[in-house]
Amino acid sequence: MARGLRLLSRAGRLRPLLSPGPRRAFSASAREPLHVCVVGSGPAGFYTADRMLKGREGAQVDIIDRLPTPFGLVRSGVAPDHPETKIVVNQFSRVAANGRCSFFGNVTLGRDVSLSELRKTYHVVVLAYGAESDRSLGIPGEDLKGIHSAREFVWWYNGHPDMRDLSPDLKSTGSAVVLGQGNVALDVARVLLRCKTELATTDITDYALDSLRGSTIRKVYLVGRRGPVQAACTAKELREILGLKNVRVCIKKADLVTSPADEEEMRNSRIRRRVYELLSKAASEHKDNNNNDQKELHFVFFRRPIRFMPSENGSTVGAVQLEKTILKDDVVTGKQVAVGTGEFEDLKCGLVLKSIGYKSLPVQGLPFDKNRGVVPNLRGKVLSSESETATVETGLYVVGWLKRGPTGIVATNLHCAEETVASILEDDKKGVLTFPSDLKKQGRTGLLEILERKNIRYVPFSGWEKIDSTEKMAGQLKNKPREKITTWVELLRAANEE
Ligand code: NAP
Repeated sequence: MARGLRLLSRAGRLRPLLSPGPRRAFSASAREPLHVCVVGSGPAGFYTADRMLKGREGAQVDIIDRLPTPFGLVRSGVAPDHPETKIVVNQFSRVAANGRCSFFGNVTLGRDVSLSELRKTYHVVVLAYGAESDRSLGIPGEDLKGIHSAREFVWWYNGHPDMRDLSPDLKSTGSAVVLGQGNVALDVARVLLRCKTELATTDITDYALDSLRGSTIRKVYLVGRRGPVQAACTAKELREILGLKNVRVCIKKADLVTSPADEEEMRNSRIRRRVYELLSKAASEHKDNNNNDQKELHFVFFRRPIRFMPSENGSTVGAVQLEKTILKDDVVTGKQVAVGTGEFEDLKCGLVLKSIGYKSLPVQGLPFDKNRGVVPNLRGKVLSSESETATVETGLYVVGWLKRGPTGIVATNLHCAEETVASILEDDKKGVLTFPSDLKKQGRTGLLEILERKNIRYVPFSGWEKIDSTEKMAGQLKNKPREKITTWVELLRAANEE
């Protein structure tokens, strides 16, 4: 067996791991500088920076982000009507204020700076850039107008500069279909249905609010390929959407019939039981309510999308063809999976939001597991591949959705960051990160040289603070927490204002 380390394979067996290189371990002093670069300033990135600064005396942490604004999904992903989830940015701002931490916004990994440049400049590179793309269904008609991923729609209403021009057409149809029943699906359905005077006092962008005010959508269908026991949302979020003002909830009683396998699932998961109970209660409470002014939220279970069909004009979506499903035990995963029955039906709609999960993207030089959409890793240490003979990529780590896939709430990233930082500190103690030949790594000075040489204008945290105060001032005039700046040009202008 090769020297050094052994890894636990996914099957739980110990497997050999080739040594990362011919280095001899020596003990590093905690006072020696340790140059750390975190790529991505969302929750996973900031929690990592925080734990690194607390865990290693001489650590200097630079956080780079492709946007001029920090906080990743907290700014671009969390729904505008969930302000309590955004309070965590106060904690992240305190991390950024640490004298050993710097923020470099408007710097894109793979374009402005390569992974290999970062690895030559820093002792430790932690990739925390998340999942900025979408899983696709791979079914006919997916390119029709009126079909968007939920991520695009969320970025649009949250003012992400890459999606501010999405302009979803909310005026030409009465019905929207949301595919998927996770918390993102609930977010987008809630934003479509929520009373606009309630949304007006949130940090939703002004253009999205205007568009939602003019929306003709009265019915939203939340379509799940499995049943109410398997709906991927959590109880708090479900309770919120079920309680929306002036929204009638429609659930077919027949879909609530459970099998022994469902009962078993609910015995094993309190969340699954709670979600099922909430749906059952909603089905009986709302059934006799026939107020014509109400909007409608339909939970559609046991249906999987087969194709999108055009409307009469030919280029816009007019319906989704769904196949009825039943659940079968999958011996490999031990889960109940949806299997088609060969019975089809069309669900008419003029807007489709695909909410079937986010997807991470690789950058050049990064090992990447395309099937799982994650970077192969062992407790956050990047591995050269998924194979049995994988080696550890010394000094390269991963955290957040890029490490474990697109699941979990903001706080999940704290545990995830703690695990990755523990791996870094373990390697640091062994001396593999600050080996004498690495002492010439310059960290921040080296990054500044690269950016200077390539004429990249980065946005420091003080630049973000200028954006922040401009947005808050604009928000005050409209009785909202902030009015977000949503174009690249205006963001960079605000960041550079004297
Ligand atoms: P998710 O929870 O994984 O839900 C994905 C949904 O898409 C599931 O219903 C899944 O059904 C369905 N799906 C996947 N592939 C499909 C296919 N090919 N055809 C049809 N349906 C398909 O993902 P998410 O909603 O994007 O959320 C991501 C994470 O962020 C989650 O952990 C979520 O809890 C979290 N989040 C939390 C909040 C909050 O706390 N308020 C808000 C937003 C997001 P199956 O179960 O059958 O695969």
